[in-house]
Amino acid sequence: MQKQPMLQFVTVDREMPLKRPPDLRAHDFAEIYGEFAAEKAAQQAGRCSQCGVPYCQTHCPLHNNIPDWLMLTAQGRLREAYEVAQSTNTFPEICGRICPQDRLCEGNCVIEKAGHGTVTIGAVEKYITDTAWEEGWVAPLQPRQERAESVGIVGAGPAGLAAADMLRRDGYQVTVYDRYDRAGGLMVYGIPGFKLEKPVVERRNQQIAQGGVEFVLNCDIGADISFDALRGRHDAVLIATGVYKSRELEAPGVGAGGIVRAIDYLTASNRKSFGDEVPEFESGELNAFGKRVVVIGGGDTAMDCVRTAVRQGARSVKCLYRRDRDNMPGSLREVANAEEEGVEFAWLSAPTGFAGDAVESVRVQQMRLGRPDATGRRAPEAIEGADYAEPADLVIKALGFEPEDIPTLWNVPELEVTRWGTVKADFRTHSTNMPGVFAAGDIVRGASLVVWAIRDGREAAAAIMEYLAAPAQLAAE
Ligand SMILES: Cc1cc2nc3c(=O)[nH]c(=O)nc-3n(C[C@H](O)[C@H](O)[C@H](O)COP(=O)(O)OP(=O)(O)OC[C@H]3O[C@@H](n4cnc5c(N)ncnc54)[C@H](O)[C@@H]3O)c2cc1C
Ligand code: SF4
Repeated sequence: MQKQPMLQFVTVDREMPLKRPPDLRAHDFAEIYGEFAAEKAAQQAGRCSQCGVPYCQTHCPLHNNIPDWLMLTAQGRLREAYEVAQSTNTFPEICGRICPQDRLCEGNCVIEKAGHGTVTIGAVEKYITDTAWEEGWVAPLQPRQERAESVGIVGAGPAGLAAADMLRRDGYQVTVYDRYDRAGGLMVYGIPGFKLEKPVVERRNQQIAQGGVEFVLNCDIGADISFDALRGRHDAVLIATGVYKSRELEAPGVGAGGIVRAIDYLTASNRKSFGDEVPEFESGELNAFGKRVVVIGGGDTAMDCVRTAVRQGARSVKCLYRRDRDNMPGSLREVANAEEEGVEFAWLSAPTGFAGDAVESVRVQQMRLGRPDATGRRAPEAIEGADYAEPADLVIKALGFEPEDIPTLWNVPELEVTRWGTVKADFRTHSTNMPGVFAAGDIVRGASLVVWAIRDGREAAAAIMEYLAAPAQLAAE
């Protein structure tokens, strides 16, 4: 079903000697960078046992051909390693940086399971793609032919961009609309620059724009252009708007000054890194400098907030989470990073109220884990009489995200959504119940990962191509 870009003449020779013997253990280094990067990458890649049961590949949402690119890297055939890596992934250098590899490819590496420490697959993926950019091996986006049909994509996050890239390569006229002033979605304004450097995203945006994809930025679909008008402009439309409604906390005093949403806090910090004027940052409202910061939540967004606060020069940074370390939703690797940077975690702790007009403290209730709830997770229960006041000048709520109410906002009540408000789309074709309208990424899955958004975007692009090739046939099915 999914069309893959042509892979050019890469033959993997398993008999060829490795560039370096596999003499390095994972724990000798965590990342591949700096001096001797090529040797380190080759050594690390050479640790792959070529086990023949590539759980790493099955647990990568893009089913990247990891064993082959590791073998090629170990043999010093970097250009071919890059060709293999990019054949299934639109943004390999981005995934190499920010995939939670401990839950995906690396967590399922056979060597990791045997207790010898995983091959650092993400670091190798990042290294070979960064090298490809430096060496000029990354080909410009060039359509194979020009086609008359046009596709409108709402949302310039990874799902929308991955779809735009594939559609344009096949010659379609593609316009990407985004309400932000920059393309990239959460890769630009959510994920902090210390995890994903912004020029890495900008470089891809430019490549896509130079390939002929039109970007219409500062354009809020539903407000600046109606969804109906958008459908009238294009032969097919992809909804890739992500999820942006922050989950709120209900507790006395939650409206006090200094209690802010994670997305606002991280967006301000990212905008600052671009050199933008950000009044809420200058005023101190969204700046942790010199403050006692309390972050509420146990997901990756909470980890990004605590680590950003440390970098902004907070006086102290504490993270409250109502379950324990083993039951937190975020990556344990991220917790370890935060702890190394001086963040304190208060496990089994839930906020029950806030004191002060401008927040002065958080009332913290200590919890224990009780019986499993309907989801199978052990539910946190309050320990009677065990609570205390935690001093705070800035409280950041990082409780997760939900979809906005698209049918209402866009005045399309007929667009089917699930009971969680995500857009209902076929899991294979990504088509919605409206003819010619497809959906991909977080707006379908709920808050997820960049790598899943890329996969969805690529699959949706392939389905749109089929639809445009034979719309009548698909409609009849
Ligand atoms: C703080 C944070 C940290 C994260 N860290 C990681 C990480 O380390 N690794 C990882 O894999 N994932 C991470 N994620 C998740 C990841 O960023 C998302 O899963 C991914 O970006 C979803 O891609 P998307 O294209 O579906 O949506 P988005 O990236 O959210 O992009 C959607 C785009 O649609 C635009 N849009 C929305 N509505 C409209 C409209 N009406 N009109 C026009 N444009 C509109 C938005 O402006 C946005 O640019 C993180 C998320 C957050 C919030
Ligand atoms: S895309 Fe992500 S999961 Fe797949 S190989 Fe790369 S880092 Fe691992």
